[in-house]
Formats: sequence, C-alpha cells, structure tokens
Amino acid sequence: MTQQLANYINGQWQVPPAVETLDVTNPATAELLACVPLTPAAQVDLAVQSAHQAYLEWRRVPATQRIQHLFKLKGLMEEHFEELATAITLENGKTLADSRGEMRRAVENVEVACGIPTMMLGDFSEDIARGIDEYMIRQPLGVSTIIAPFNFPGMIAFWFLPYAVACGNSVIVKPSERTPLTMQKAFALMEQAGFPAGVVNLVNGGAETVNALLDHPLVQTVSFVGSTPVARHVYARASANGKRVQTQGGAKNPLVILPDADPEMTTKIVIDSAFGNAGQRCLAASLAILVGDAGKVFKPLLAETAQSWVVGNGIEPGVHMGPVISPQSKLRIEGLVAKGVDEGASLLVDGLNPNIPGGERGNFIRPTILESVATGTTVARTEIFGPVLGLMQADTLEDAIRLVNSGEYGNMACLFTSSGSAARQFRSEVMAGNIGINIGVAAPMAFFPFSGWKASFFGTLHGQGKHAVEFYTQTKVVVERWLKEWSRQF
Ligand code: NAD
Repeated sequence: MTQQLANYINGQWQVPPAVETLDVTNPATAELLACVPLTPAAQVDLAVQSAHQAYLEWRRVPATQRIQHLFKLKGLMEEHFEELATAITLENGKTLADSRGEMRRAVENVEVACGIPTMMLGDFSEDIARGIDEYMIRQPLGVSTIIAPFNFPGMIAFWFLPYAVACGNSVIVKPSERTPLTMQKAFALMEQAGFPAGVVNLVNGGAETVNALLDHPLVQTVSFVGSTPVARHVYARASANGKRVQTQGGAKNPLVILPDADPEMTTKIVIDSAFGNAGQRCLAASLAILVGDAGKVFKPLLAETAQSWVVGNGIEPGVHMGPVISPQSKLRIEGLVAKGVDEGASLLVDGLNPNIPGGERGNFIRPTILESVATGTTVARTEIFGPVLGLMQADTLEDAIRLVNSGEYGNMACLFTSSGSAARQFRSEVMAGNIGINIGVAAPMAFFPFSGWKASFFGTLHGQGKHAVEFYTQTKVVVERWLKEWSRQF
C-alpha cells in the first residue's frame, strides 16, 4: 500500500483526514514513493495556533538550553546521514554524492546555530546621560514559516530552521510537494531531539497551503525559496499582510571564460557547474560567455567532457548526473532547446532523447550544449533549470561584464582567468550576490549569507549565519534610570 505522508503538528504525526493528495514519484524510475497531503487552510490554522502557543513558552527557555536540542539534532543527523542522503536521491534524482554534499551543508547550519548565545547578544551603553543607561536586547518574533523548493529537499529548510528555533521562535516548514520525503525523516529526528511540542512543525501542501500561511495573522515571518514568479507573489502577499519576509528566487547564471583560463580545470568546473544535479541548482551555470578566441580551445573541450558524463539513476555508483524532476519539466526543457535552435543557436552537444539503459521510465536528458546563443533570445534570458548550457561570445572582458549585468537575475557569476586584475575588475563590477573566481559557486558556507541580487532575491536579510539571527529577532531598546534615593541603601 502506498505510504500516506503525515504532517507533524504540536508534537504529533497526523495524516489530515480526507484531503486531496499528490503522488510523489522517483524521477529515475517513475516508481510511486508516497502520497502527500495538500493541507487546507483550516488545518494550517491548527498548526499555526499550536506553534504560537509553543512559542509563548519556548521564548522563555534560555538560549543555552534551547541549543541543547540542536546539539542533539546534529548528532542524530550524523547518525542517520546516509538515510537522509538516500531519501534525497530517491525523491529528487540527484546522485548520492550530491545528496551527501547537500546534507553536509544542512548539518553545518545546525552547528553554526549552536552559537546563538553569542550571536544574539545585545548592546549596552552605560551613562548615555548622567545616571541613565541604554541597552538593546534581541527577542524572537513568534511563528516563523519556511517554504522550500524541490531541488534541495534536505538542505534548504536548514538555512533557516536552526536559527529560528535557537532564537526562540517556533517554526512551520512547508516542503515542496514534489519532494516531501526527506523532511519526514528530518522531522522524525527533530522529534527524537526532544523539542517541546509545537516548536517545530511540518505542514505539507501546495499553493493553497502556502497562501493560508501567508494570510494567517499569527504568522510573523516568511522565508521562501523557489522560482522568481512565486517569490514575487509570496513577497508581495506576505508583506501586504505585515510580515517580515525574505524570498529567494530563480537565476540565470553566467560564467565568463577568458582565453588565458586554465583549460583542464576550467572545463571540469564549467561542466560540473552546468550539469551537476541535472542543472537543477539555483547556482548552476546556464551560460558560458567565451571572450576573444577562448572558444577555439574551450568549445571542443566542453563538448568532449559533456559527452563523457554518465547519466543514469543517481543511486547507482559511477553516475555523474540523474534525471530532471518530472516529465513536465523534461518537456519544458526540450521545448526551450527547440526554441533556442529556432532562434538561431545550434546544438554543439545534443542530449535530447537519450537512450539510458534501464531508464526508459525516467525523466532523462543528457548534457546539452547550445552554441551561438544570441543576446536577447529566449534561451539567453530564461531560467532553463535543466542540463543545458548556452555558449555566447564577447570580444572583451568589458563586453562580457556588460552582458552579465544586462540579465534580469543576480544570483551568481563566475570568471575563469589567470589575470589578477581581470579577476579584481569582475569581482567589483559584476551585479550578482555570489561570485566565483576560477571556481564554481556552491551554496555558501553556513556562516555566510546566501546572497542573491536583482530578481533572484526580494527582501533585505538573507538566510544563514548572522543575517538569519537578525531576521529571526527583533531589537528592543531600553533606557533606564535608577536614582539612588529610590533604592534601598546598603
Ligand atoms: P516553485 O516556485 O515552483 O515552488 C517553491 C515553493 O512554492 C513550493 O513549496 C511550492 O509548493 C510553492 N508554490 C508554488 N506555486 C505557488 C503559488 N502559486 N503560490 C504559493 N506557493 C506556491 O519552485 P520549484 O520549482 O520547487 O524550485 C525551483 C526554483 O527554485 C528555481 O527557479 C530555482 O532557481 C529556485 N531556487 C532558488 C534558490 C535560491 O537560493 N535563490 C535555491 C533553490 C532553488
């Protein structure tokens, strides 16, 4: 019988009665893994009410005690590391190596949030006027919600959750309805970590569930990661409802390759960045801008390396790249490649309609490279979110930087060169929140913010590290006078 996924609300696992469900399938095999409930507004209300009650007590627990649950959770995540990574691969399709990398970053965020007693310290100023002191303390806000996309089912909730609870908030996580299984396992570990009932909650669902959270008067903060159109919607709706909001959106990440770049290292990194996780990363390379005559060396190298990648079920050893998430996503990607060819690009590497032994039911596309992609065309502008790399041409570094900055998004940009001054100019002038020099950009370490600019982020404070502590606390400034004559004399 198919597993019915449950919500975790107020310390209890509950399958919501008689609600609509969606099938969750393995994208490599089309095997049915589970059914996920689409939780309606009435049940979202129950979750928010109990999270609010839990917060009222949790905020009074000293930070030094709150983090004991995170220490315990970190130990449990290490103990069950392979189980969590395997769940990611089964529901998302990425390779086990990619899933392990993802869970490692999740664990690192728990580790960093264990430093909350120091990170949420306030400020004190003695004698702002004679006999008067002023100080600032940080306090939690209340019910905090986290809405995640399908492509990192294990990591993204942990960009936010450890900081939110360590600061004294209660949390509701709404995972992607396409990849909800890993969070079931993560929440089973949170249950073992002994958080008081209602402090951490899991509510499954889709758009209706999200909107119920955005509209609920007791929800105080919204942390969203997903596509740009939904990020805009969530930002606008939650802000209009007076909530503190941060929304990370989509991307169209360019890599610039100068003729003096190291051929072997650059080729390996560009291919890893474009095709790792089947291009379904918000930091994936989507365009490679070849400057001057760099194409002479790099086009054949990129083509050869892309063709050498082993595509298959990510659970199997030796596989470089798994499937894309769904048949609909595969169709959309194929349509965009066809549109690229219609608009004048040509296929340097054609990965469509692949023959993957044993993968007949999976959503497979092999690494695909389009060359001669022209500025302003659909594939030059649109987030493809699949294993497709577009090659563009620029005459100079300045032209390449102009091209990079003309894009709608600003999540990441990379430069490959052996010139220090070119690297410096690129780092300074490029309008993106994550920059790589001679390296592909992975999700930043837990103690750095996940920066994104332009249409890749709406808000002020980002996830992770110090930004998360600012986001999940509100400052209170107190001014105090204690006259001697009011106090008992000793
Ligand atoms: P998505 O926007 O379709 O879904 C994200 C979340 O929003 C899901 O939980 C979903 O249930 C919910 N949702 C979807 N439609 C909604 C609606 N109309 N109203 C309210 N909620 C809605 O994103 P996805 O396809 O799951 O993920 C891929 C996207 O996420 C890509 O665009 C990728 O670039 C982006 N992403 C960005 C980052 C980043 O850090 N900037 C990280 C990972 C993924």
